Amino acid sequence: MDRQAKAVVCREWGQPVQVETITVEGPRRGEITLKIAACGVCHSDLSATTGKIPYPPPLVLGHEAAGVVVEVGEGVTDFQEGDHVVSSFISMCGKCRQCVRGRPVLCENARKAMFNLPDGTVRTKDANGEPLNVFGACGVMAEFATMHVDNCVKVDQTVPMQNAALVSCAVMTGVGAVFNTAKLEPGSRAAVFGIGGVGLNAIQGCATAGAEMIVAVDNNPAKLEMAKEFGATHTININDVDDAAKAVKKLTGGVDYAFECVGAGPVVEQAYKSLGRGGTAVVVGVADPKDKTSLTTLTLPADERTLKGSWLGSARPQHDFPRILGLYKAGKLKLDELVTRTYPIEEAAQAFDDMVAGKNARGVIVFE
Ligand code: NAD
Ligand code: ZN
Repeated sequence: MDRQAKAVVCREWGQPVQVETITVEGPRRGEITLKIAACGVCHSDLSATTGKIPYPPPLVLGHEAAGVVVEVGEGVTDFQEGDHVVSSFISMCGKCRQCVRGRPVLCENARKAMFNLPDGTVRTKDANGEPLNVFGACGVMAEFATMHVDNCVKVDQTVPMQNAALVSCAVMTGVGAVFNTAKLEPGSRAAVFGIGGVGLNAIQGCATAGAEMIVAVDNNPAKLEMAKEFGATHTININDVDDAAKAVKKLTGGVDYAFECVGAGPVVEQAYKSLGRGGTAVVVGVADPKDKTSLTTLTLPADERTLKGSWLGSARPQHDFPRILGLYKAGKLKLDELVTRTYPIEEAAQAFDDMVAGKNARGVIVFE
């Protein structure tokens, strides 16, 4: 059935987000409709409103949500009404070479579902009946969303929805970069550049994995304070030093792992330069497609350094989302503390402004 839903929409790159009442069609074959309970505001949503992530508007934002199944399409056997579900902005077909070799974030079919559902169409239209694209095949910054099951993960019903929502992007991306991409060893020395929702989770991932030193690097003193609460042993405000990479090296002798959680070539260079011999720099931030990074080539072989990327924390979402929620329930990962502030959907523009101003670990839009 068709449902009316308030939704956060990007109409034009460079303009503030708008809240509109849209129509969300019911599920087709292999799809489910969710009543969304909570959706985190991620920097990637902002990047879609500026064109840095070039998904064409009009676009329903949101990829970091949890909701309850209210309708199930034909052929769906793994989900039923009432299930709690977390969105995955990466569509995982489960059948291609990458999926079967355990790398679902690299699914060969995922690129078909960047701003529409995997079949190339959308279930969302505006008040004039015009189709609306959906961020990451999700578009979950809305009261309802119809998604393909390849973008859905069933989760434990006892976890508060606003916490479960954050697992789908910020937590999985940050913690997964440490656990899955870097496979950080206990006793390692690490630095995290950029302490937003993603970087804070890289910090707590390092702490949980047993890092010896964890250096948080940011330009916002409030973020550096938050970093300490999540396990940072040292902080560096880039405004207080000439060169952040040199400052990290001075403190640590060169880190074993550096995580870039900003999305800019110069910061990737800093992360790489902060490495010690044998170190690995993991690029998590999503840069503009034209952005470039340069490095001293010789350091790759002579220091056996590694530069690698991490997409959704190299997740196997069906395995890792429940695993992260289990670690939360066991008291080994913080989720409650990540939600600095909740907003009703009418205040979505404020939630984006507060992210830009660096006020929140995560701002979360909560629905009735
Ligand atoms: P955010 O806006 O909450 O945080 C960014 C942080 O970086 C802020 O604390 C800011 O003060 C800091 N910062 C800015 N410039 C800096 C600099 N030069 N040096 C050090 N710190 C600096 O963003 P977020 O939601 O945490 O997202 C971070 C990045 O991760 C974005 O690029 C986002 O698109 C990307 N992301 C990647 C994935 C992935 O799968 N790889 C998933 C989600 C988000
Ligand atoms: Zn995100």
